[in-house]
Amino acid sequence: MAVGSLHQGSSTEMEQFRYWKNPDPDDLGENVYEFLDSLTGPTHIHLSGQDSSRCRFATTLLHGNEPSGLHAVFTLLKRQITPAIDIHILIPSVDAAKQAPGFIYRMLPHQKDLNRCFQPPYGDSEQDLLAKEILHKLDSYHPECVIDIHNTSGSSPSFGVTTFMDAKHDALVSLFTHRMIVTDIKLGALMEISENLVPTVTIECGGAQDRESHLLATEGLERYMTQEEVLTIGHTDMSLEFFHNPLRLELKEGSEIAYGDHCLMDDGVTLLPDIENHNFGYVDKPDRLGFVSGNLDDTLAVKNPLGEQKASQFFELRDGALYPMDRLKLFMVTTNPEIARKDCLFYLVRPN
Ligand SMILES: [Zn+2]
Repeated sequence: MAVGSLHQGSSTEMEQFRYWKNPDPDDLGENVYEFLDSLTGPTHIHLSGQDSSRCRFATTLLHGNEPSGLHAVFTLLKRQITPAIDIHILIPSVDAAKQAPGFIYRMLPHQKDLNRCFQPPYGDSEQDLLAKEILHKLDSYHPECVIDIHNTSGSSPSFGVTTFMDAKHDALVSLFTHRMIVTDIKLGALMEISENLVPTVTIECGGAQDRESHLLATEGLERYMTQEEVLTIGHTDMSLEFFHNPLRLELKEGSEIAYGDHCLMDDGVTLLPDIENHNFGYVDKPDRLGFVSGNLDDTLAVKNPLGEQKASQFFELRDGALYPMDRLKLFMVTTNPEIARKDCLFYLVRPN
């Protein structure tokens, strides 16, 4: 697809997505890498359901290094599942995912994070235009709901994320997992359209490398595609565990991060390499998380939607080692320094 053409015409005329209706299973390749290879760029797959008067959307690979959703799509297309209603699957970050050896890049080095582009003002970068095209498709097809399938950057149990709390969002998340994060943090993620447009949830399937995550995505997506109703919780006894308004631990401007079992940074933070074992678990006063050289509040900050709090309200240094001051629940813990730098080290909530 010619990138040059993206800068011409109005947003509604520019189409980066290749439309592919009811793909023949023989055209998909033999595995997910061949499937990825068969995609020439951002792809819109349209599957006809038994009832074509209604439709649902699923998006995946907004981040090129999060393959579980694509595994699920590949598996279900191969099995020629007939959906209950029409299903539209949007797969945007194909180019990033294709960079050898595959599923390594969240986005290409010069690109913006697509899942931070779903809020005005919309620029004219490739990612902004992709976001606008996705919103335009939602507007023209009027789906009853949207799910956006991701992987966590570290290994983690699965969970759903929503910015909007009601029974419809609960039901959508319950198709995949029983953990639900409710957040007011507005970052420009696709799920934030829930408030004005259509019920939308993010599904974090767990670590990108874990087969479990692919399985969870496949089973959840199959339910999403084949169930007559997905916006009401049926006779399942699965009750959701909620986490409200998690805070983000972020590096302060100019600080650096490394991972190791002793202090590696002259000026910055070193987190223990096995810190991701704390995902969805509690940490307390005795749990050493890493090391900080210098002043804690100059190195780290805790952010909530309303602003910034001092890291020293949650953590303390004892002989240069970093400990929680109190019981905290951590999740989305990453050991990828790139993610830690650009996004956050982890999310935390204080248990009630
Ligand atoms: Zn993601």
